[in-house]
Amino acid sequence: MPNPLYDALFAPHVDKETPFLLMDGTDDLSHGAFLRMAARYAHTLVEMGLEPGDRLAVQVDKSPEALAVYAACVMAGVVFLPLNTGYTHHEVDYFIENSGAKVVLGRADALEMLRRDCDRMGVRFETLEADGTGSFPDAARFQPTRFVPVDRAPGDLAALLYTSGTTGLSKGAMLSHANLLSNARVLAECWRFTDRDVLIHALPIFHTHGLFVATNISLLAGGAMIFMPRFDIDAVLAALPRSTTMMGVPTFYTRLLDHPDFTRALCAKMRLFISGSAPLLAETFRDFEALTGHAILERYGMTETGMNTSNPHEGERRAGTIGLPLPGVELRITEPDTGRPCPPGEIGMIEVRGENVFAGYWQMPDKTAQELRPDGFFITGDIGTVSEDGYVTIIGRGKDLIIAGGFNIYPRDVELVLDAQPGVLESAVIGVPHPDMGEGVVAVLVPEPGVMIDVLAIEAGLSGRLARFKQPRHYVIVDELPRNSMGKVQKNLLRENCRNVFGG
Ligand code: AMP
Repeated sequence: MPNPLYDALFAPHVDKETPFLLMDGTDDLSHGAFLRMAARYAHTLVEMGLEPGDRLAVQVDKSPEALAVYAACVMAGVVFLPLNTGYTHHEVDYFIENSGAKVVLGRADALEMLRRDCDRMGVRFETLEADGTGSFPDAARFQPTRFVPVDRAPGDLAALLYTSGTTGLSKGAMLSHANLLSNARVLAECWRFTDRDVLIHALPIFHTHGLFVATNISLLAGGAMIFMPRFDIDAVLAALPRSTTMMGVPTFYTRLLDHPDFTRALCAKMRLFISGSAPLLAETFRDFEALTGHAILERYGMTETGMNTSNPHEGERRAGTIGLPLPGVELRITEPDTGRPCPPGEIGMIEVRGENVFAGYWQMPDKTAQELRPDGFFITGDIGTVSEDGYVTIIGRGKDLIIAGGFNIYPRDVELVLDAQPGVLESAVIGVPHPDMGEGVVAVLVPEPGVMIDVLAIEAGLSGRLARFKQPRHYVIVDELPRNSMGKVQKNLLRENCRNVFGG
């Protein structure tokens, strides 16, 4: 009986004692051991009354057990709904209610509030702790270590991942077996993953990057992962000599570069560093290559689509670009207002189509219709451009577009010039209410260590480089930019903090 994800990712490894999750110390887990745990969990899910298509909401710390819950869901046909551990119980309430989850798996410290909410909503609550203990693993202890996977069609849902919802309500992206599997296959092939690979896994597993990109590719290829609870620079430095690949957000790479112990020799066994989820500065790309000899491979994707583009494994990895559309992914640039395709070289909305693109937003047909065109193209919300030879560059998020005095300003345009000014480590450009112009441009600058930024010198550096209407009208200096756990700058927080700088 078919179950596409199980058949491709798990079935080949049943009872194989090859290394899968390498933990700190003695708790390494083979593929076989991982799958036996997942089978016990799958039986437990069934015993708890979960049927194929039901949702299991999971807000737990990263652990092998937490990853086995994902595998158990695949086996039992249950829709896996992972949640950021940073969400408050009010936020989790929304996800439970919206998804109609039947069971919630959480941490004991969340028990009081969340259990009360779950009781009120008639939802079962079980615990799973960072150390792998809890009521859920307890219930699974004596379950059989084999589970006959539930029959699934390619279009059946495997996971529901909520978008970060920085503009309005968070939406549940419905991801099918076919979405996840097709993307894993393409990436494993493009990035040349094999069973000899050992991947440094320091990403969270509630997000598509650490959960699907990293895990599904490793499973497909039969490789191992050094599975870290979080990004800890010392642990990553210690792991590098026994690893071949790493997937990270750009901040992983800047932190490595900042560390005096990070050397070319440490990377001797490494074959590939991959970056995504937020823009990798061209400067980071170049500094990294100069130090290690490795050109970081940058790729681009999102919750709704998995990965869409990647710089090539062989061939030029071009700094500041997200590379070429992946095989099976069609990418086009359209005029944001009309949806008409733009001529090559022009800036517009990035749209993508392919087997990787999700089925729509959970119970939000209107939102789905707004973002998923009838011809299957998904409107990503990212503004970008394609070069003559096919490399895609992201200019910014559509929602970050600033309209000042009727002029459109793409923050990235301004940020690139600001980043090149002396003493500026990085910058974020936002639009906030302005009494005359509708929105005024504000630059938030992070100085290089030990440097006092001279705003007048920066203003002078910008004139002649940037059109007057793009130049910031207000500067804010901060020690660091607020980032979420995926390394994305939280511009909504910056906008909130700077709301009144022009007097409203
Ligand atoms: P998420 O759904 O949380 O994965 O966020 C997806 C968004 O992250 C995309 O729509 C982009 O705005 C951004 N993103 C992902 N990868 C990159 C990248 N390589 N460069 C710039 N932005 C990226």
